[in-house]
Amino acid sequence: GEVLLEVNHLQTNFYTENGVVKAVNDVSFSIHKGQTVCIVGESGCGKSITALSLMQLIPENGKIDGGEVYFSGKNLLNLNKKDIRRLRGNDIGMIFQEPMTSLNPVFTIGEQMIEPLQEHLLLSKKDAYKKAMELITMMGIPNAEKIINQYPHELSGGMLQRIMIALAISCDPKLIIADEPTTALDVTIQAQILDILREIKKNLNTSILLITHDLGVVAEMADYVVVMYAGKVVEEGPVLELFSNPQHPYTKGLLKAKPVIGERKDRLYTIAGQVPNLVDLKESCYFADRCEYAMDHCRIKQPSFSTVSDEHHVACWLFEEGVTNG
Ligand code: SF4
Ligand code: MG
Repeated sequence: GEVLLEVNHLQTNFYTENGVVKAVNDVSFSIHKGQTVCIVGESGCGKSITALSLMQLIPENGKIDGGEVYFSGKNLLNLNKKDIRRLRGNDIGMIFQEPMTSLNPVFTIGEQMIEPLQEHLLLSKKDAYKKAMELITMMGIPNAEKIINQYPHELSGGMLQRIMIALAISCDPKLIIADEPTTALDVTIQAQILDILREIKKNLNTSILLITHDLGVVAEMADYVVVMYAGKVVEEGPVLELFSNPQHPYTKGLLKAKPVIGERKDRLYTIAGQVPNLVDLKESCYFADRCEYAMDHCRIKQPSFSTVSDEHHVACWLFEEGVTNG
């Protein structure tokens, strides 16, 4: 399919008292029309900052120091504040982990939905109200008339997340960026929210960039998976291929760490060791200290990408011919 979003060599740094934190370090990937791409990794691997960078929403001490982000042919990183804001409301919808932080507590759900609908779709107030009601109903909420007049604090977390999704799709976006949209919710509600996202993708052919640490969510949602570690992409590939034929030792570890229903907790596999300090990165594979396959070469030079199969790539010296231990 047609490429909708293309991220090339994105570099986002944070300037802290302790030095420069390379939070997103030369990250590239793309999303096709109608495709769901999951970025997966442990917390602190740079997946949220990647998503926020695309929308120029990184915190103040952060700076995008390199790369391009093409969306429908435009480099988003060159857009001014006004244009990127317009794009956020129109072509790209965003959903965050904590819906409460994105909603204004002093306005009703209706007030917060109707105004952007009027602004972006140039609807009359009456038509915007009608559309808001439709959207709320579409989210599987039966009593839209009641919800629309309520304030955010009167709604449950799952209900708020549905409202956030309704808001995100209200202007028919081409892309939805969802950062851990179900992490704060209990399992039943989580499944319902994922169903809603899948329906949206199917019915509206929306592309989705889904950020998650949860491989269960990846298995259910992704067409394509990007695995990040310490600010870098270490492996990427179609979901079935990646789950059945993982190559990077980190991806293998993540898949082993995936909890199995019914399995005793003390038998859960965790990847030993710590994520490296992103201030003090050496010219080495960043996973070397935790990798059971690490070779001398891994501590001297960073691995480049090798092709496993057509769309499946891995950054690991094990796949570079001629690199062996000793
Ligand atoms: Fe392990 Fe070396 Fe591969 Fe890094 S490059 S993941 S240290 S084998
Ligand atoms: Mg995060």
